[in-house]
Amino acid sequence: MIKTFPDALLLMGHDGQDFSTVRYDDYGSIYAAATKPIGTCYAAHTLLENTLGVRWYYPSEEVGQVAPTSAHVVVKNLNIRRRPDAPVRSIYPLFINTERLYFTEWDQPQKFQSSWVNARTSLLYWIRNRFWGGMRHNANHSFSYYDRAFGQSHPEWFSSKSYVRMKQLNYQTEVQPCLTAPGFADQVVQIARDYFDGKPEPFPGAYRSATGHFFSVMPNDNTNMCGCPECRAQYRKDVGPDGNAGHYVWGFVNRVAREVKKTHPRAMISNCAYFNYTSPPHGMIFESNVAVEFCKFYTEYSNRNYQERDYRRIAEYAHQNNVEFFTTWEYLLKPHITEWAFPCLAPHVHADDVRRLHDIDGFRGGKLQFLYMGTYAGDKATGGVAQVSPVLDFMNLYWRMKLYDDATLDIEQALDEYYRAFFGPGSEDMKAFYTAIEDRWMTLGGGHDSRTWWGKLGTPEFLKEVGGHIDEARQATAAGTIYRKRVELIDAGILQHLLKARVRYEKSAISELVPLGTAGVAHAGTAASRDDWADDATWADAPVNEIQKTLNNEPVSQKTVFKLAWGEEHLYVYARCLEPNVSQMKADTLDNDVGGFSDDSIELFVDPSGKGETYYQFCINSRGAVYDALENPTAIGATATVSWDSDIKVQTTIGKDAWELRAALPLASLVKQPPRPGSTWRFNLCRNRFAEPGKPPYSAWSPTPAGFRDPRRFGIITFNATEDHGRTVWNCDFESTAFESQSGESPLIGRDGWYENTAYANRGWDRSWKVVDRGGNRLAACDINSTCPSDVVPMYAVQVSPGVVSVEVDFRRLATHNQPALAVTAANGKRIGYLYGWAGRSDLVAIEQPGDRQNYGHAQHGLREFSKPDQWFGLKLVIDTAQRNITGFVRSGRGEWVALNNEPLPYYNPEADGTPLFLSFGTYKQKTIDNNVLEMDNIRVIQLSRDE
Ligand SMILES: [Zn+2]
Repeated sequence: MIKTFPDALLLMGHDGQDFSTVRYDDYGSIYAAATKPIGTCYAAHTLLENTLGVRWYYPSEEVGQVAPTSAHVVVKNLNIRRRPDAPVRSIYPLFINTERLYFTEWDQPQKFQSSWVNARTSLLYWIRNRFWGGMRHNANHSFSYYDRAFGQSHPEWFSSKSYVRMKQLNYQTEVQPCLTAPGFADQVVQIARDYFDGKPEPFPGAYRSATGHFFSVMPNDNTNMCGCPECRAQYRKDVGPDGNAGHYVWGFVNRVAREVKKTHPRAMISNCAYFNYTSPPHGMIFESNVAVEFCKFYTEYSNRNYQERDYRRIAEYAHQNNVEFFTTWEYLLKPHITEWAFPCLAPHVHADDVRRLHDIDGFRGGKLQFLYMGTYAGDKATGGVAQVSPVLDFMNLYWRMKLYDDATLDIEQALDEYYRAFFGPGSEDMKAFYTAIEDRWMTLGGGHDSRTWWGKLGTPEFLKEVGGHIDEARQATAAGTIYRKRVELIDAGILQHLLKARVRYEKSAISELVPLGTAGVAHAGTAASRDDWADDATWADAPVNEIQKTLNNEPVSQKTVFKLAWGEEHLYVYARCLEPNVSQMKADTLDNDVGGFSDDSIELFVDPSGKGETYYQFCINSRGAVYDALENPTAIGATATVSWDSDIKVQTTIGKDAWELRAALPLASLVKQPPRPGSTWRFNLCRNRFAEPGKPPYSAWSPTPAGFRDPRRFGIITFNATEDHGRTVWNCDFESTAFESQSGESPLIGRDGWYENTAYANRGWDRSWKVVDRGGNRLAACDINSTCPSDVVPMYAVQVSPGVVSVEVDFRRLATHNQPALAVTAANGKRIGYLYGWAGRSDLVAIEQPGDRQNYGHAQHGLREFSKPDQWFGLKLVIDTAQRNITGFVRSGRGEWVALNNEPLPYYNPEADGTPLFLSFGTYKQKTIDNNVLEMDNIRVIQLSRDE
């Protein structure tokens, strides 16, 4: 309460009963005082902030605060009674890098020094912003110490069902309590009652996640839910991976809440909506004392659908499940700046988000978790953690704090005030700087990995633009002023991070576009039957594929080759791992579904949908122990659903200098509709090799620099018809689910291996190509008026074998003023061949040769005006990689291919070399005209012959 009287000012609030003298310069003394209610302190800070205009933007009394100065302070006619809008205002961690306010040495974490962390300044920052002293609340993993307390006496209370087994596993990330085990729920209820009765912990860690009147009941940090029949009966297979354990977990939480409420009516039972219990359990009515903390990722909100999905789910908890108390856990520490990410600084997202949450009954604030790191004293880790870069966190953390205090905050006005008050004459330029960074993330759809962070968002042009804003802000502010200092601070904490991360990206192997693996899956014909599937005849037609690089992009130490085949019921995998040290191989895993990742093993990754939303993972060690799981990487924090079973058949053999795997994956366990000839799936085959200490153990066929479990980097496999004999290396299957979308229109670039060449991507990714439905057939279409004026996009990379290879595509244009083209380039950037239809001519095609363009008209191909508007026609290049020559073909509609050149022509550039082929399809823009549309379909790469 703040109230003025004729001769007095009243500042008052709900306080703790007794304070000893508070020593303002002493962290311990302030902390002791601030553990009790501090309502009067709130009144004082509210007067300072809301009435007198003081701002505590950053936790630094030197540069972080704004305090207007005047000789007299006049306050009158005040009669304010308020409290922060969100009662739960929780932060993690408490301590802050107050002395530097930023950090950019992500590859040298030991440089993060504890001497930069001032505990008092940290605490005062939260107190002054009224983010300290909210309702005590927690929702977190609560069974963390149950293994020690009950593992021996009650092994049946855990998913491992054996104490010996449990000790071999990581309890928090691999084991779960068995929530249906007799006696277990009673035990949890008893511990909760002990807590609320104020009894001492019955065993160390029993109250780990309890605080205030909240007692957490939350499973361990993994999705390997118990596989016993009673538990399995409660999973919902039809809900999808973010909710299949919803009834199981929330049912248990509800049961505990019901029991505890009988003896402790005010006690709350809290749990997070997380992992495979994120989406609400349809139809379940929650007890009134269940508190839900919904885990949320603001970085995904560049996708409107994702944001709306969160509100729909939360609203279902509130309105259908009758949850009366809900909070959110905000992952403000994303994206992981420590991985040199492009930052998502999005104040408008937070303003919109908090407003939307308030519209749902029962919102009480929640937890803000921001970027923190372990601190060091010199080179020694101190064991403590602290917020590492308030400068990077500011736009997300500070505004979220203000919005939890006052949900009606006008973000535009508040931001303008920040720019003006904090940067003075540099305000316009700093506004432009921050706005550009927010817009970049939101309009280009965010980023998830180095390539999108730095290939799409943090391009050289963009960094030049934002660097220019900082330069101008520096010029606008006088040297030595506080405003200049603040511009320098933002430069050091944000711009320098961007520049360093970009340089690092350019130097790394990931910036060079490593093509995805591409391979044909031969049809096994009648060779594979139920009994003799493992015979080599199954793979008789299958081409050989090879793993070439380790995850660090170095050549592999031992060769791994594999072949793929398919039949009516199975996908067949044969892999041969050369291994001179077979006696040294690790094979510790004996049981299925435990792991085997640390054994000499093969991992398979299969995503039939091609969407990267879910995929199947298999790990098979040399003994034939199988781990198989359904993965759902886009679900909140998800790991594996190990209870999923593929019924895979495996056979392993260990020879003198190699071990071999033969596997048959039942198609019915992977897909509802079996693949047809021409279907494509995303697939990867990876090897873990531990038989030779000191050698890098991990290698992958389709390169996955960020680790095996990256569905965007899985290769593409094409199912061949029997008559294709495994020679179709790649068929672009626009009918596949990878290109499905609700609107009937999906982007082409970024899906299923399609990309832009990096030079062009630097100017913002092309949006001119889309996959659309035309009369029941999906194809790719381009609005040429908005495409690239200087290059042919999009691109695709295929790995073929030395020999003769054909690349073909069908085009249809709606106007002739463009140049449908097929270009093939080698890995060294040198062009192999360039075949195109002339702009403005429907009869003429050309094969580009240096200084000597070869033109072909009706007299040569006999197809008249075969590329007239509205007519389909084909372009094909046949490439002989040994002779280093090319032959061009055209066709009208789906007619016969007609060769253009009787004698093969040499490679366009004699220096072109190698067999990863970089293909460009489409046209560059010549001019803006009506109906400037190009369509393409039936794109295919065939290995016609192979040099042995
Ligand atoms: Zn169970």
